[in-house]
Amino acid sequence: MSHLVHRSLRSDPPLAVRGQGIYLYDAAGREIIDGSGGAAVACLGHGHPKVITAIKAQLDQLAYAHTALFSCESAERLADTMVGHAPGGLTHAYFCSSGSEGNEAAIKMARQYFLEIGEPRRVNFIARRQSYHGNTLGALSAGGNAMRRAPYQPILSRAFHHVSPCYPYRDRRDDESDAQYVARLIEELEAEFQRLGPDTVIGFMAETVVGATLGCAAALPGYFEGVKAVCDRHGALLILDEVMSGMGRCGTLHAWEQEGVSPDIQIVAKGLGGGYQPIGGILVHGRVIEGLSRGTGAFMHGHTYQAHPVACAAALAVQQVMAEENLLANVQAMGARLEQRLTERFGNHRHIGDIRGRGLFWAVEFVADRASKQVFDPALKVNERVKQEAFRRGLACYPMGGTIDGRQGDHAILAPPYIATPEQIDTIVERFGEAVDAVLAELR
Ligand code: PLP
Repeated sequence: MSHLVHRSLRSDPPLAVRGQGIYLYDAAGREIIDGSGGAAVACLGHGHPKVITAIKAQLDQLAYAHTALFSCESAERLADTMVGHAPGGLTHAYFCSSGSEGNEAAIKMARQYFLEIGEPRRVNFIARRQSYHGNTLGALSAGGNAMRRAPYQPILSRAFHHVSPCYPYRDRRDDESDAQYVARLIEELEAEFQRLGPDTVIGFMAETVVGATLGCAAALPGYFEGVKAVCDRHGALLILDEVMSGMGRCGTLHAWEQEGVSPDIQIVAKGLGGGYQPIGGILVHGRVIEGLSRGTGAFMHGHTYQAHPVACAAALAVQQVMAEENLLANVQAMGARLEQRLTERFGNHRHIGDIRGRGLFWAVEFVADRASKQVFDPALKVNERVKQEAFRRGLACYPMGGTIDGRQGDHAILAPPYIATPEQIDTIVERFGEAVDAVLAELR
């Protein structure tokens, strides 16, 4: 047995030894399509020569300099690239090493902002059930996934409160229109502000498109505009976690561009560096930075590896390649193809309740019964079996569910690299379809 702590302590996973394009190769020589880019990470696929060259060049020049004393060129240029044109009023960027760290930074910056502008009573956050913001304790406190929270409940922060997500497949009542359902969710949010005391709320945190826990669940039209209006009315911040859904994954650079709102703080990771280096960060609205500047003039938070030169050089190269190769257009085109292929394959399938997503970020939700939306017994581990069957057929996908909050069906996410070709999209759906058929045949 391995001495490394793996996700499972009972079995060792295969060794990945090489990656090229959308393919991963293991030590046994098997070729696996990285059909979910890991967890929606590998946006450029593997082995992109420009990113590798940029990383090597940065290492030749400077591997590390502590940010208590220095800045570095790659971090400065990455910040310019991300917020130099102030998208949605976001003017500043902070870089760390993961999505969880990004969420921690967002939480702490938001609290510090209100301290600096003389509103110390603001101590509460409102987030959503069935959300995921990371595994560190602050981010886990923000998250609303009951299963992940349960073991740590006694040591999680009590400053986080949860309202319903926008999840029409299961939560919109049959007698409700989309607009009525959205209005109900906005009323629920307003009621939560009132319950806590509106002047005690720091902000509302949400994934723009919910990733792992709900499976590519985008909000209905008008939802985020309604949320933003409530936040604005009460002077609270809108904090959008785009760790999974952002950086082009949904077909626009930022997923919020499709929602008619922009955040006060946005968390980014995964597609920022495409897995070539560990990097995450936050993008911050000018007014938040002004508040801090006029106050202590510092962000009271830091990490040894913040704005790491090599990580920033990798992310800068990833973002440059995305622009040079016009990959957002490919995400849109291949995303439309993926949706079409999934709909053809599963649109009338008795065990697929919903097919949903945006861009190259799609999920199918498995149900025991399509009409009643009855979930499969979690003990059947449907999502895990689909993952294994797909892997046997040379496809890596990202499954979840079954045990989430006890009411949600299993689902699997497909999030191919942005470089995927039409033929590769077809192969992904073909292999995925075969895997699903094999699992469901066993269950009959
Ligand atoms: N936020 C969201 C929406 C995520 O999907 C994830 C990871 O899956 C995180 C935060 C945590 O990111 P990391 O695993 O890089 O810490």
